[in-house]
Amino acid sequence: MIAFWRRIFSSNSFCLNCNVELKSGNIPGICNLCLREFNFNGLISHNSWSSNFMEVYSPLIYDGIIKELVYKLKYDGEELIAYTLGIIMADYLKFLGLYDKDTILVPVPLAEKREAERGFNQAGLLAEVIAGELNIIMNHNLLYRKQETPPLYNLSPGQRKLVLEGAFSLNKSFNGLNKENIILIDDIFTTGSTLNEATRVLLNSGFKKIIGLTAVIALKKEEFDNG
Ligand SMILES: [Zn+2]
Repeated sequence: MIAFWRRIFSSNSFCLNCNVELKSGNIPGICNLCLREFNFNGLISHNSWSSNFMEVYSPLIYDGIIKELVYKLKYDGEELIAYTLGIIMADYLKFLGLYDKDTILVPVPLAEKREAERGFNQAGLLAEVIAGELNIIMNHNLLYRKQETPPLYNLSPGQRKLVLEGAFSLNKSFNGLNKENIILIDDIFTTGSTLNEATRVLLNSGFKKIIGLTAVIALKKEEFDNG
């Protein structure tokens, strides 16, 4: 996988935000001027929603250039942006020492129809990059998403719970898996409800330690789709 990402990346040596030619020493995909506009998250972990099970970590704050890049990734199909964000997420995990050789990265799945429409699952791309960078295992079939949920940001906690109930199930063919450390990967943290529900399913299936890692956190609960 690492080879795949490095190969497609090496064919693009321009800043994904401003198109300036990149020099060696830049973070892949972003020039230093644009990187300076990135709003890095000072918070180490956050679990600010009710009945939380888990810790969630997010290196970046969802505003400015980051907001535009996430939008381009999800809705314009600019998959290379996942490489840039994935590299930052991998560095963050490394810095915080949150993984070991038994860690399994699990991207939050999209429902089949949504993934087919988009052509990819952005969480899967991020997990792929992180797994390649840190040389840890990724399992993109562990969780299955039965249905896509409507936007959650304007629902009450109770309504979110209701909407998400039964959204995820565990793929039964993974019974023999090491059940120690899971890191759930997603692109954006908004309400935390989606990660919370995926975590609940994993805990019920015998997994012991689950944390979340998203590329960005939306500090304002603004209009956005699931998260
Ligand atoms: Zn730039």
